[in-house]
Amino acid sequence: MNNSIFTFPQPANEPVKSYLKGSPEREALEKELKRQSNTVIDIPLIIGGKEVRTENTGTVIMPHDHKHVLATYHKAGEKEVKMAIDAAMKAHEEWSQTDWTVRAAILLRAAELIAGKYRALLNAATMLGQSKNIYQAEIDSACELIDFLRYNVAFASKIYGIQPKSSQACINSVEYRALEGFVFAVSPFNFTSIASNLNMSPVLMGNTTLWKPATTAILSNYYLMQIYMEAGLPAGVVNFLPGSGATIGKYAIESPHLAGIHFTGSCATFNTLWKQVGENVGHYVSYPRLVGETGGKDFIFVHPSADVKEVANAAFCGSFEFQGQKCSAASRMYIPESMWQDVLEIMKQDAKEVKMGDVCDHDNYINAVIDEASFDNIASYIEYARNAADAEVVMGGKCDKSKGFFVEPTVIQTTNPHFKSIQEEIFGPVLTVYVYKDEEVDKAVELCDTTSPYGLTGAVFGRDRVAVQKIADKLRYAAGNFYINDKPTGAVVGMQPFGGSRASGTNDKAGGEYNLIRWVIPRVIKETLVPATDYKYIYMK
Ligand code: NAD
Repeated sequence: MNNSIFTFPQPANEPVKSYLKGSPEREALEKELKRQSNTVIDIPLIIGGKEVRTENTGTVIMPHDHKHVLATYHKAGEKEVKMAIDAAMKAHEEWSQTDWTVRAAILLRAAELIAGKYRALLNAATMLGQSKNIYQAEIDSACELIDFLRYNVAFASKIYGIQPKSSQACINSVEYRALEGFVFAVSPFNFTSIASNLNMSPVLMGNTTLWKPATTAILSNYYLMQIYMEAGLPAGVVNFLPGSGATIGKYAIESPHLAGIHFTGSCATFNTLWKQVGENVGHYVSYPRLVGETGGKDFIFVHPSADVKEVANAAFCGSFEFQGQKCSAASRMYIPESMWQDVLEIMKQDAKEVKMGDVCDHDNYINAVIDEASFDNIASYIEYARNAADAEVVMGGKCDKSKGFFVEPTVIQTTNPHFKSIQEEIFGPVLTVYVYKDEEVDKAVELCDTTSPYGLTGAVFGRDRVAVQKIADKLRYAAGNFYINDKPTGAVVGMQPFGGSRASGTNDKAGGEYNLIRWVIPRVIKETLVPATDYKYIYMK
């Protein structure tokens, strides 16, 4: 038994590689892109460490070339969900008792494998399957993913170190037990790093999971599962279950052993999961922990003292990188009329320069949106604005799904502060702008705060720092991640723990110790050194 008292220090963030032409990372990536583009793999379920094939299959395609099939995958049904619950419960017996430094070592080994040997594999799969360019894949499936693994180990050190006071007469301690049951990890398509973290943060704290990956991210997620196993994750600790969310969700949530849900995705899905848990309440061994990071309608608020170029750049990158499919992407902007035309001109110039297309052509800044349903949804918002009397499409707006699901970076300008596209999450490269009179800043701030139900990210731009602070104060509840003179995307693990409130989720801050604390149930132990033997109070003696 290793009896050292071990503390893992805060790591450094994984550096973003440059991928300059001729660099070793670029060469390795090109080779891997070619290899994955020329193979069709078969993706099984992985339950209790074993591959399971149901022969009820679907296909994985490239969003930017939708006729190109990358993989077939097998779908889980009732039988496989129940097998996975049994496997997770069995693995829990040993994993929850395993020394936490051993669990940490497995996560740290996975981080090293991804930083080195499998960096190209995971980045290429994320590029091809989720249509990210090199940079967007590198900051997701390499850097953020590695950071989550390494930082969480340091955060866990801190949590286990939080202990109560003891005295001469008694010893007090807290045992941070894993939850009693399994965690249902349900991941979105847009970040491979989030899919990893939804599993590995509960796993680090001694839990076992049923993992429902997003169908449109199965390629990268399957490779990730294999890397976890190579890193030494024991059988049954994570059980990989592709398939229909509704089917898998139903049987997972019906189980009395559901101890928690770790979710990232849309509000509609999280609301469904929450309701299903509510319907089963009273039937569980413990009240399940519900942790969900959901949608956003993230804003940029521009004060008249802001710099035109800084605002234009933040609006462009914050709204259109990865086709606006970041939960934190800017999708509404409030700007004074004295600045708007200048900002729009710069954005139009940028839009003229950027190229859109395949992820393997590295000149393309914009790639495809994730699937046809998403493409149709985004196109319907643009069409709605085209036909509206109180809005105008002032930049972009072209949509073409003949080869891939391509939507141009689009700006809608509206005179109606409650226009449909300024209130609802679209999840695509569409920014809606409301232009206010320079002297009506307060009114515009009020609109910004009350227009959408979400509270995820937001940014304020301005050189007048006192005015900026007043705006930040008024927007206190409008965003869980708030930026001053920066775009509202790009949170870094360890620096800006991430999450929002209102309709944006439970705000348990991925990339911080707050999240890990949700995956333990503390047991406080008091040991009395010399127990009393007489019931009388001192003054009675
Ligand atoms: P989604 O809600 O469509 O899907 C998320 C996951 O839920 C998928 O795995 C899906 O298969 C599963 N699912 C769907 N219905 C289900 C059901 N009835 N039972 C169980 N599982 C079910 O979301 P998405 O399209 O993958 O991701 C985009 C959404 O995620 C956006 O709304 C975005 O804002 C949000 N998001 C939020 C954050 C954040 O940190 N707040 C981060 C990333 C993405």
